[in-house]
Amino acid sequence: MSQKAYIFVGPPGSGKGTLSKLCVDTFGWLQLSTGNLCRKHIAEQTDIGKQIDFIIKSGKLIDDQLMTDMVDCWLEEVTTTNTTLILDGFPRTVEQVKRFVEMTNSKYPQLEVQVIRLLISDDVAIDRVVTRYVCSNRACQAVFSAKNDSGLGSKKEMVCDYCGSLLGKRTDDTEQVMHNRLQVYRKHESDMLACLQKAHIPVVEFTGEMPIEDVFNTFVDAVIR
Ligand SMILES: [Zn+2]
Repeated sequence: MSQKAYIFVGPPGSGKGTLSKLCVDTFGWLQLSTGNLCRKHIAEQTDIGKQIDFIIKSGKLIDDQLMTDMVDCWLEEVTTTNTTLILDGFPRTVEQVKRFVEMTNSKYPQLEVQVIRLLISDDVAIDRVVTRYVCSNRACQAVFSAKNDSGLGSKKEMVCDYCGSLLGKRTDDTEQVMHNRLQVYRKHESDMLACLQKAHIPVVEFTGEMPIEDVFNTFVDAVIR
């Protein structure tokens, strides 16, 4: 039996995080969060966790192999169910795409992988990011917007609708930093997409320049019907 796995791709501000959350809340899908996985492995002191802990403490970045091992570990667990999977934030590099494709082909051939790409102009992405607030609770991280027409306002000012924690701004969610982030992201994304296409993983594109409800509905209609 096949199991679906969607790789969500899009620049900061494209709404992919919010879209992922909507899918998880609506359909009960499982979302890969590399950040949460890192913390879990460290807390449980697994072999992977010990390596990650060491790398973080020495101020280095987690390399592609270790990241892929961690995802492998997650896939071993979640492929025992038939639940649809969301990958958001992995694969993040060309090297990770290669390792992911190799791994799914050999170990998880039942996975039907598809890329969901959200398209958005730099102007809209910047506007969204500078007006967004994020829940300060690490386990929640829900995103809200100060913009009235976004449909993402919080019910109570600066308080998370889901967990009641305070909302705050991410330090790199500024216009200046965003110009740089987007430039880096665009270059990166095209390399990654080329690699995914070479591996014959289908890519479906949507505009992310709509209120998130509309993006969600378009996604549901077009992809999962
Ligand atoms: Zn929250």
